[in-house]
Amino acid sequence: MGKILIIGAGGVGNVVVKKCAQVPQVFTDICLASRTLDKCKKIQQEVRQAYTIKIKIAQVDADKVNDVVKVITAFKPDILVNVALPYQDLAIMEACLKTGVHYLDTANYEPPDVARFEYRRQWAYQDAFKKRGIMAVLGCGFDPGVTNIFCAYAQKHLYDAIKTIDILDANAGTHGHPFATNFNPEINIREVTQTVRHWKKGAWINTPAVLEPTSVHFTFNYPVAGPRESYLLYHEELESLVKHIKGLERIRFWMTFSENYLTHLRVLHNVGMTRIDKVDYQGGEIVPLKFLRALLPDPGTLGANYTGKTVIGCVFDGVKKNKRKQVYIYNVCDHAACYKEVQSQAVSYTTGVPAMIGAMMVLKGIWRGKGVFNVEQLNPDAFMEALGVHGLPWKQTKFMGRLPR
Ligand code: NDP
Repeated sequence: MGKILIIGAGGVGNVVVKKCAQVPQVFTDICLASRTLDKCKKIQQEVRQAYTIKIKIAQVDADKVNDVVKVITAFKPDILVNVALPYQDLAIMEACLKTGVHYLDTANYEPPDVARFEYRRQWAYQDAFKKRGIMAVLGCGFDPGVTNIFCAYAQKHLYDAIKTIDILDANAGTHGHPFATNFNPEINIREVTQTVRHWKKGAWINTPAVLEPTSVHFTFNYPVAGPRESYLLYHEELESLVKHIKGLERIRFWMTFSENYLTHLRVLHNVGMTRIDKVDYQGGEIVPLKFLRALLPDPGTLGANYTGKTVIGCVFDGVKKNKRKQVYIYNVCDHAACYKEVQSQAVSYTTGVPAMIGAMMVLKGIWRGKGVFNVEQLNPDAFMEALGVHGLPWKQTKFMGRLPR
């Protein structure tokens, strides 16, 4: 049905490639391009051993528009899936625009020198993509991604008006390392050390960062994983959901962190290892967080000994036919099962599968449009169905638990 170019051979890229290889009737030609060709070679080799389809690989520096254009021109994809880092989003979108290729990513743009991720600069491509007759699908991982699709589904089928949304993300897994992050350490630590924001009655409310003693947290009783301390965190889907879910009064995002993770990160933060500015070191310059990243385990290698589950979902509170209704939609994913299937842990898996499904929606013509879209603006039905088919089944239940007011 179509040719797919995947950029980024990390933890998530590995999953996207292998999940595409499982659906050769849709993804007739697959090319993986990344900065380090050896990482592409390893994934290519694993695909050769496990699947009938053979994938192509290429080296690319996706910070350079012309480099990406060259790879696109050589491979001629119908869609490009960007699972490199948020820093590359704009250069890759620019390359798609030059070549007329659909674009999809899982994380919004973030400038390397300011730890502030926002959609503004990607939304600015709206007119250009429209004029070129191509589509950019933004934030199609799990959160953002599936959580946004759950919201679109709830808005379409379950509610006349959604009043509040609480997104709850638990990783109840154990990887055996003293300290590691489940996706790119640099991006993860930039996210977790930020001042927290949530949205209430038309305004953004600031609260202390997760590492602060006064951070906002509570114990949520997750299905399967049980009670877990969950911290209020700013997450990028909040920015688009407040625009696209009509009548919303409040939206918050909560993520679990273990005491062990927070203690390690507090120490690293206090000694300056999470700084993103350049510091002088022995006559040269280093960015401490980039150096730290080089020391920490690669998220793509965590899978082998990972046990436990992730539980991610949304709690909705709103009104249907003049009656109050509370619903919880969530997915449970098992780290070890992901490793067995595609040699990945569940965080990369829950990101890579939706990226593959989103690309499939575009190639099949189920998601159609010209311009820049967040996933909640697109039809959720076929996507929700595909989640079950491709490894991320979800449950919908009446919500009986308690959330902070
Ligand atoms: P990794 O660090 O494991 O992988 C990133 C890959 O991108 C690496 O192979 C890296 O190459 C490559 N890359 C980095 N810079 C460039 C460049 N300039 N040109 C070409 N390739 C480059 O990260 P993850 O796989 O964990 O995460 C990938 C993306 O997924 C991130 O943007 C992350 O924020 C997002 N994500 C989204 C989630 C969601 O639910 N929406 C959840 C988790 C992650 P090299 O090997 O040379 O460093």
